[in-house]
Amino acid sequence: MGCCDAPGLMPLEDAMENMLSRIKPIQTTLQLPLAEAIGYVLAEDILSPIFVPPFDNSAMDGYAIRIADLEKNNTMPVAGKSFAGQPFEGEWPQGSCVRIMTGAKIPDGCDAVIMQENTEVTEQGVTFTQTEVKPQNNIRPTGDDIRQGDIVLPKGARLTSRDIPMIATLGVSHVTVVRKPRVAFFSTGDELKPLGQPLAEGQIYDSNRYGIKPLIENFGCEPIDLGIIPDCPETLKATFEQAQSLADVVVTSGGVSVGEADYTKDILEELGEIGFWKLAIKPGKPFAFGKLSTAWFCGLPGNPVSAVLTMYVLVQPMLAKLSGHTEWKAPESIPATTKTAFKKAPGRTDYQRGIYTIEDGKFVVETTGNQSSGAFRSMSLANCFVVLERERGRVEVGETVNIQLFNSTLY
Ligand code: AMP
Ligand code: MG
Repeated sequence: MGCCDAPGLMPLEDAMENMLSRIKPIQTTLQLPLAEAIGYVLAEDILSPIFVPPFDNSAMDGYAIRIADLEKNNTMPVAGKSFAGQPFEGEWPQGSCVRIMTGAKIPDGCDAVIMQENTEVTEQGVTFTQTEVKPQNNIRPTGDDIRQGDIVLPKGARLTSRDIPMIATLGVSHVTVVRKPRVAFFSTGDELKPLGQPLAEGQIYDSNRYGIKPLIENFGCEPIDLGIIPDCPETLKATFEQAQSLADVVVTSGGVSVGEADYTKDILEELGEIGFWKLAIKPGKPFAFGKLSTAWFCGLPGNPVSAVLTMYVLVQPMLAKLSGHTEWKAPESIPATTKTAFKKAPGRTDYQRGIYTIEDGKFVVETTGNQSSGAFRSMSLANCFVVLERERGRVEVGETVNIQLFNSTLY
C-alpha cells in the first residue's frame, strides 16, 4: 500500500523538501577565541599554517644514533642531549650517540632512535642491545600528521570537543563561525502547569519545553524559552510577535491538531504565511510550517512524543540548513532483526521507539512497549527509533527493520 491509502497525508520527504528549499543559511559571521567556538559552525575552511609536527622529533626516550656508527660498534660515548624544547646543539662526533627524550628535536644526521629499554649504560657510554635498526625508526617526521596548507576542517563543520584541540595544534587562536540561529519556543495549552506546583483537576505538567530545549541547544542553536501560553488568541498573538522579534525560528507545541488549529490558523494568517500539514508520519501527523513576517515558524503537535519526534526529524534538518551546517548528516538507517513484534497499520511512516542491542555481531531490536504518542516513557526507555515504512503492516519477530540510533541531542 502507498500513501494513496492515506488520502491527504503529505509524505515526510515532501515536507522536508518544502522546508529545506525555502531556508537560506544565516550569513552573519563572528570571530571567536578558539575555546569559545565549540558548537558553532565554521564559516570558512581551517587551513594549516604549519607542518605538524613542525620538526622531526623522537617518538621515544632513548638515544639518537647514526646507523652506520652502530654497524661499526655497539658501544658509544654520549655526545650530548636533546630534550623537548631544548634541542641538541654543537658538534656530534662520528661514533657517538645523543641522549634524546620523547618530542625532542632529532639532531642533524641522525637516522634512528633506539629506545632506552634496548640499551645499557656502561663505563664507555652506552651499549646497544638492539643492533638491527631500520632507518627512521622511532622518528616522527615533519608534517607526519598534517602538511602546511592542508584543509584540516571544512567550512560547514560544527566544532566538536575533538575539533577544538585539533585547531589548537595548528596555533590558530581565533576562528570565523556562523552566528548561532536563535530559536524561541513556547508551549500552548490551558491545561499546562509549570513544574513544582500542584495540579488542579484536568491539568498536566508542561513537559514539552524540557524536551524541545535540549534539541535546540545541543544542536548548536540558541534557545529562548518563552514559557507556557494559554489558549487565548490575544496572548498567543502577542507572544508570536515577541517571539519573532527575538528569534530566527519560532517553535510552538500544541494548538495544531484539529479543533485547536482553527484559531491558531487565524492568528498566524495575520502574522505570515503558514501551511498546516497532515504528515504521513506517526507520531507527528499534525505539523505546521511557514513564515511569520521576520521568522520561520514550526508548529509541533502537543503530544510529548510527537513534539520531540517532529523537532528531531523535521526541525533539526532545517536548523542545520539555517546554521550553514552543511556537514550535517541525517541519521543513518541500520538493518536490525526484531526480537518482539511491532504493531503497525499501513499508511504512515512510523517512528516507533526501540531498544537495540548487538547479539553475535548483529543488531537486534525490541519495542519499548506502549507506543502512544502521549506516553513519553517510550522515549525515555529507548536508544533508537525503529523506522517502519509507510506501506508496512504489523512486524513479526525475526523480521528485518531499519533502526536509527539517536544523535547526540537525544543522549
Ligand atoms: P494539542 O496539540 O494542543 O491538541 O495537544 C495534544 C495533547 O498533547 C494533549 O493531550 C495535550 O494536553 C498534550 N500537550 C500539549 N502540550 C503539552 C505540553 N507542553 N506538555 C505535555 N503535554 C502537552
Ligand atoms: Mg492544546
